Amino acid sequence: MKSGSVTGCKPCPRGFWITVVLHEVTHFVEREHNTRFWQLVNAHAESPRARGFLGGC
Ligand SMILES: [Zn+2]
Repeated sequence: MKSGSVTGCKPCPRGFWITVVLHEVTHFVEREHNTRFWQLVNAHAESPRARGFLGGC
């Protein structure tokens, strides 16, 4: 058992980290997990550059 590892399927570790970074960066703009926060996350996640990261591993 690895400590601190994410359980469940992990098809794209790189994409996972991009998501984590995106999450943290978005917190600079919106501190709470409200609708606006997730709209910002989704807006970035759907950008061509982010998709290149997410789908490129
Ligand atoms: Zn958060």
